[in-house]
Amino acid sequence: MNQRALFLQHVAQTSAAPLALEICAAEGCYLYDTAGRRYLDLIGGISVCNMGHRHPDVVAAIRSQADQYLHVLVYGEFIQSPQVNYACELSKFLPASLNTVYFTNSGAEATEGAMKLAKRLTNKTGMIAFNKAYHGSTQGALSLMGDEYWRNAFRPLLPGILHYDYNDQAVLEAIDDNIACVVMETVQAESGVVRPDADWIKAVADRCRESNCLLVFDEIQAGFGRTGTRWAFEQYGVVPDILLLGKALGGGMPLGAFIASHERMQAFTDQPVLGHITTFGGHPVSCAAGLAAFKALNNSNYIAAIARKEQRFLQQLQHPSIRAVRSAGLWMALAFDSFATNKKVIDECLANGLLTDWFLFAPECLRIAPPLTMTEEQIDEACRIITAACNRVA
Ligand code: PLP
Repeated sequence: MNQRALFLQHVAQTSAAPLALEICAAEGCYLYDTAGRRYLDLIGGISVCNMGHRHPDVVAAIRSQADQYLHVLVYGEFIQSPQVNYACELSKFLPASLNTVYFTNSGAEATEGAMKLAKRLTNKTGMIAFNKAYHGSTQGALSLMGDEYWRNAFRPLLPGILHYDYNDQAVLEAIDDNIACVVMETVQAESGVVRPDADWIKAVADRCRESNCLLVFDEIQAGFGRTGTRWAFEQYGVVPDILLLGKALGGGMPLGAFIASHERMQAFTDQPVLGHITTFGGHPVSCAAGLAAFKALNNSNYIAAIARKEQRFLQQLQHPSIRAVRSAGLWMALAFDSFATNKKVIDECLANGLLTDWFLFAPECLRIAPPLTMTEEQIDEACRIITAACNRVA
């Protein structure tokens, strides 16, 4: 059997139509497959590879850490300098109230940890989440997910979770003595790059403060420069009580985190002791890789260049079949009339060496979330391929 047949037979599948490119190498903004084809990567592993694939500093950090130690003990017992150094570096670039990092393996686990921390700190169990939100596939995170089609098949889920639309004023009244936390993405990813109103976020934050309810921002996709600032919440002037990070956090290695104040995070040390445990969370190689990627981001002018690169995309992505474009920095959703049209454009792009896809809750929208390192020439190449695909199929 060839690799494709073995993949379909022995690796658990999650859809009937995987992309199934057989990748043999990745470098910068390009992926290479075993058929000898090169693809310009317009989605960066879904907002993971913000510094491009295999950034040399990240690869060097992985090699160096692998020469020292890999897993040594469960989370929280030994002083592991990759964790300490990364937590310190993150806190340098975060508000003072977000100074303590709990490292997990994934974004979903970061969500789970935040939900537990909110329950523990408030002694309440209700939560508010939003329609078309995705926070992970584990059962707690799934309970927050804003779509009945995906939730319903797995009931019973966590009780007491209310879902609203962004900008719904009813949220303000719903935050009461039963609600432990409000969990929201600062820019909603899988609905196709949707921003809530800044005034509404501020009102939600005020209401949370009045009601002993924690505000949790999920920046698992939006963080690390994606939206044009290091953290998207900077654009709203609101600091969350708990911040969720993942994806680009590990520089291409598996890593998630929930971040809160030192005082709040202490809740996991007592009643019960070991209130949140993980074997591999904060793996030293992942932390070393993530720290190298974060330093590469901060020591460069990539964030400063995002607005210019965003404009370069927007100026060129004009075509009668593109009905609307929503964008937040180097993150865009191009809306077509239907999934059928979008899929044809995506397939045509792939055939011409450009990798993109659609959004979970916005299948009619084409996803643009490239490495932040993408050059202006590569942006032009991507736009040429997309508009040529539109001319041919849309
Ligand atoms: N939150 C958001 C906004 C996400 O996009 C994702 C993953 O796509 C998650 C949480 C879950 O992260 P992970 O897949 O690492 O569990």
